[in-house]
Amino acid sequence: MTEFDLIYKLLNTQSQQRSDVLTGIGDDCAILSVPDNHSLAVSMDTLVAGVHFPESASAYSIGYKSVAVNLSDLASAGATPAWFTLSLTMPAADENWVKEFVRGVFTLADKYNVQLVGGDTCKGPLSISIQAHGFVKKAMLRSGAKAGNLIYVSETLGDAALGLKASQGDNTVEADCIKQFNEPEPRVKLGLAINDIATSCIDISDGLISDITHICKQSQCGADIYLDKIPLSASYQRYYTNQPDIIKALSFGDDYELCFTIDKSNKKNIDIISRESGLNLTCIGTISTESKLRCFNQNNELVDIPRRGFEHFNG
Ligand code: ADP
Ligand code: MG
Repeated sequence: MTEFDLIYKLLNTQSQQRSDVLTGIGDDCAILSVPDNHSLAVSMDTLVAGVHFPESASAYSIGYKSVAVNLSDLASAGATPAWFTLSLTMPAADENWVKEFVRGVFTLADKYNVQLVGGDTCKGPLSISIQAHGFVKKAMLRSGAKAGNLIYVSETLGDAALGLKASQGDNTVEADCIKQFNEPEPRVKLGLAINDIATSCIDISDGLISDITHICKQSQCGADIYLDKIPLSASYQRYYTNQPDIIKALSFGDDYELCFTIDKSNKKNIDIISRESGLNLTCIGTISTESKLRCFNQNNELVDIPRRGFEHFNG
């Protein structure tokens, strides 16, 4: 058995066997059946060792997170996940490493009923690319926000930033932050629940400030964010002896929460979705007609947030 035969064998241990997979792993192409009246939502993310996850990360969490970040993109489109392909580049085919990696991949795949249908395997520095596919009737996009819309985020921001600190040796970081960094939960159900209501949506991978700017650019509007409304976890707040680092929570990223906009008239519906999903959904600001992002403190004073040159969206 070659080392790659071994990998294919492990990849074939998955329990997901969907009826819309006509041909899965093993042939030149996967042959897949899209349900009538649906569009295919496709997204791809690459994770490179030392860039997107620390070299010290466990094989299990690398596998888990690789799937999670891709399902998060489907969630932000309001798509139902179905399939994914996996390009795995690694320096050597270490059986134990691959076993743990595959366990992480399939843990999340099973949870969301998605099937691995093909991929590629190469030798080289550790890097994982996944392309995820889902079904959607009408997708949420970045481009539909309107002035006056309310801006929401799910759950809390910043925990993953502390999770990274833990992997760098900071032993004062609490367990839920470490889990948020290594094994983020893609907000798939939330994406489906808000699909009919949200005017725009994005998943927070690069930090709220950066990601809300994508909505602003593509919706040709601005955003007013109220910093005292940014939801921070109890662990995040406990980590700081004085003031929690709000800038870090807004700019580190890796949160994989959804940021979305709604018409004010749907506020009550969001409260219902929050109750039903058990997820905190917090209104953090409003879409404006200004062509920029503005952040305000609790005294309604404009605060200058250091960020990567995206003050103006025109031109
Ligand atoms: P080819 O030479 O046609 O590219 P491969 O030997 O690379 O074929 O792959 C054989 C089969 O195994 C294909 O069906 C491919 O989709 C699947 N495969 C290869 N690598 C992976 C992987 N990392 N994850 C899932 N399926 C894979
Ligand atoms: Mg190949």
